[in-house]
Amino acid sequence: MATKLDPHHLVALMKYALKGKQDSSPHRLDPSLHTFKGGIVNNHETSVRTFPILDALAHISVSLEESQVVAIGLQLHSWREEIRLTVAENKGVMNGLVNHLTKVWRNLQALSSKYEKHRDGKWDKSQLRSPDMPSDVGHLLKIEIFRDIYQYSLKKQMKRIDKWSEDLGRFVKELLRRREFLQLQGFELSLYNAVVALSMAVEVVSKLRDNPNVQLTRSEWEFVYFQSMQANQDVKIVLADRNGFGCEVLAQEFFSGHPGEDPFPLRRALEKLTSLPHHITSLFGFANSPHLQPALRYRLCISAVPKKAHTVELPASLEDWKSFLEAACGKRYDFQKTHAVELVEMFGSGKWVCPVHCECGLIQYLQARQGNQWDNIPPFSYIGVSKLSCSACRIWMEASNKQSRRKFYTRGSHGKWYWPWGVPGGGGVVNVMAQKVLDEYLAYLMDQKLLRSYSESTDASSDGAQHHLSDDQQNNNRAAAVARMQAHGAPGFGYFDTRYPDA
Ligand SMILES: [Zn+2]
Repeated sequence: MATKLDPHHLVALMKYALKGKQDSSPHRLDPSLHTFKGGIVNNHETSVRTFPILDALAHISVSLEESQVVAIGLQLHSWREEIRLTVAENKGVMNGLVNHLTKVWRNLQALSSKYEKHRDGKWDKSQLRSPDMPSDVGHLLKIEIFRDIYQYSLKKQMKRIDKWSEDLGRFVKELLRRREFLQLQGFELSLYNAVVALSMAVEVVSKLRDNPNVQLTRSEWEFVYFQSMQANQDVKIVLADRNGFGCEVLAQEFFSGHPGEDPFPLRRALEKLTSLPHHITSLFGFANSPHLQPALRYRLCISAVPKKAHTVELPASLEDWKSFLEAACGKRYDFQKTHAVELVEMFGSGKWVCPVHCECGLIQYLQARQGNQWDNIPPFSYIGVSKLSCSACRIWMEASNKQSRRKFYTRGSHGKWYWPWGVPGGGGVVNVMAQKVLDEYLAYLMDQKLLRSYSESTDASSDGAQHHLSDDQQNNNRAAAVARMQAHGAPGFGYFDTRYPDA
């Protein structure tokens, strides 16, 4: 039976209920439910490859330091040879984003042509796998794409650097303290190499933050590009080590064990600091893929989803919250009074402006008729997002997929509840969603042993062909690192001592 309780109130309630103990483990929507209809090509494997491309496009669309999330949908009109990207943001699409994406797309088209010329027809169309990316093709173009993306996302990238690089440097300093530098090998050597490359790139780009009028020279951008790509390549080895647990094992070894502290989130630090080159590599893979090439020949148009938000009044008084909790639980319990007091403290009595989160806003936009030629073109069922979805969005998408003919998926949810959160639209989906959120609330109360009885109680990461630096490029990067190290005396340690003196 569908609940009549306002889903906004229920989402606020879940935010309150799980405060301080939000589950951050990723929840993936069931990948077996992914449909590939409407994909760029019919081939299963290459359709899967479009997933990281949409996520990469969403990721490079983020420019603000915080509170910006971007979702991107894709439609393809094959006989008119047109492709449409539809972009949504939680707080409305930023000025300049459409121009940024258009420029990146144009350069990817040019890069795709260079790869095609290089293949010179020597590629068998029946092969599922794209040919390896030749590292010497489109060199200047790749640096230009890298620079444009880096500059657009500079504030966000500086924020990642400020948040993670010092602690990561400290961690590697600890590694050098515990091991003989010359004995580093395998996983630990890759980690060391990755952090040196990252650190050298950061040294150069930090000039941009220190003085906004500064321009990096072409050779400085080339240096930042090579070191960032090197770091990305080394980090890939580190993250895959010991079936993906190498980082956790090392962080645990270095953990002081102090109560109230956690082991250093090494994996997260490396992922965050290499997220930009990682996604840029996906885009280079897109340009290199013969299967996906038609998409880059098509004419591109970009639509922006208008900003949408609701003004919501939550229960304002102790009594209002008590009645709401009683209705939610179906009867009165003693704990409700304490919870009502805390809910009033947490939410106050004002009105809330609740933005519709971008992935839900985008889905709603794609489901509705806009009165243009795209109304009859089925959108690709995968939505690219710059961030994992929150729990409320996950539940709304599950409800929407149950009720609608068209299904949509994102790469998953981080399992956290956000407030304010706005319901994307009306209709039966809202009631189904409210019931699902209520079920989660009751399950939480059961788990907390606050209810006596309650009986009721979803990886697309295939990168395709890999972007690799050539042996010469890698040797040059390593040589630059060695020269930098030697300038600091003792190999390895002296450099980290200078860069991170307080560690
Ligand atoms: Zn959300």
